[in-house]
Amino acid sequence: MRIEENYSLEKHNTFHLPVKTRWFMEYASEEELGRILRDEYFQECLSLHIGGGSNLLFINDFNGIILHSQIKGISVAEETDDSVLLRIGAAEKWDDVVAYAVSKGWGGIENLSLIPGEAGAAAIQNIGAYGAEIKDVIEAVEAYNQLSFEKRTFTNEECLYGYRSSYFKNEHNDPYIVTYIYIRLSKRPQFSVGYGNLKEELAKYPEVTLQAVRDAVISIRRQKLPDPDELGNAGSFFINPVVPAAQYEKLKEQYPEMPSYPAGEGKVKVPAGWLIEQCGFKGKSHGPVGVYEKQALILVNLGDARGHEIALVAESIRTAVNDRFGIEIMPEVKYVG
Ligand SMILES: Cc1cc2nc3c(=O)[nH]c(=O)nc-3n(C[C@H](O)[C@H](O)[C@H](O)COP(=O)(O)OP(=O)(O)OC[C@H]3O[C@@H](n4cnc5c(N)ncnc54)[C@H](O)[C@@H]3O)c2cc1C
Repeated sequence: MRIEENYSLEKHNTFHLPVKTRWFMEYASEEELGRILRDEYFQECLSLHIGGGSNLLFINDFNGIILHSQIKGISVAEETDDSVLLRIGAAEKWDDVVAYAVSKGWGGIENLSLIPGEAGAAAIQNIGAYGAEIKDVIEAVEAYNQLSFEKRTFTNEECLYGYRSSYFKNEHNDPYIVTYIYIRLSKRPQFSVGYGNLKEELAKYPEVTLQAVRDAVISIRRQKLPDPDELGNAGSFFINPVVPAAQYEKLKEQYPEMPSYPAGEGKVKVPAGWLIEQCGFKGKSHGPVGVYEKQALILVNLGDARGHEIALVAESIRTAVNDRFGIEIMPEVKYVG
């Protein structure tokens, strides 16, 4: 177990905000986690479990305990002629899991290549990209209840997955710490390449293979998204809003070019990036905070931004979008502090 006091989180958040935490605790096994959870001081303190910090915005220093897992490992829990069930430690880097699966010829997560963060958080966030979501392959999630210390294995249904949401993200539910996830992958992969410009990019490859899909996704993402190691960011800052179809139809009369995607009966999803771009934010900087020039949905740290400055820019974007379109956009990024 590793315990640090007054520890910098700069390397633990992809905005690279220079915040500190009073305590930082890293455990490498379920036994170590159990010891932390049962500790009286831990129970009295404010605490937050983080993964790779790629979806977090630290507003202030954290006056409590930041927990981080070092539980790693990928093992085959079950194998049939058609599929494999993998058990993956929550601290495995998600993209390493994808690379491993692709190298073995197991399909189902190749479209989720290069999404930053760790496997545990991927299952909490229900990460998605290029028409795929992790919920489609999740079979179970092992987690510890932070209040009762009991271990529970959630089935896919019990995870209550929705668009970028799950049981674990609902603040009304008991807090859980995810230790392992189970994903089922196919030995006879079926490719899903109809989303965005993936098909176009794949045309550059001699044949469609798992590796080609992974490479194509990585290539598109590298062209479109800022690398957090070079320009601090947390990916899409806002969730794409879902609005009633009637409201969308009315808006479309005024803005005929407004894009949309079906989102269940009587509802449509509108790309938040388009709404923000229409409000004139794309490519603009506000002091040390920028709105990425290639994608208005991404806020970037231009150098020495602080969390509250990023939050202020986000708030002025939300207000502008609401004033113009009557649509409320909500942060995907979790504010801390
Ligand atoms: C450049 C870039 C591109 C991105 N692209 C995408 C994309 O295409 N699709 C997408 O869905 N997301 C995307 N994201 C967002 C982000 O990568 C995902 O949300 C990712 O799953 C976050 O993982 P993390 O390990 O960094 O989690 P963190 O940001 O550290 O934490 C996220 C949440 O999970 C909780 N948490 C983390 N680990 C645990 C655990 N073991 N137990 C309990 N709670 C835990 C945290 O408390 C927090 O609430 C992108 C981000 C960046 C920076």
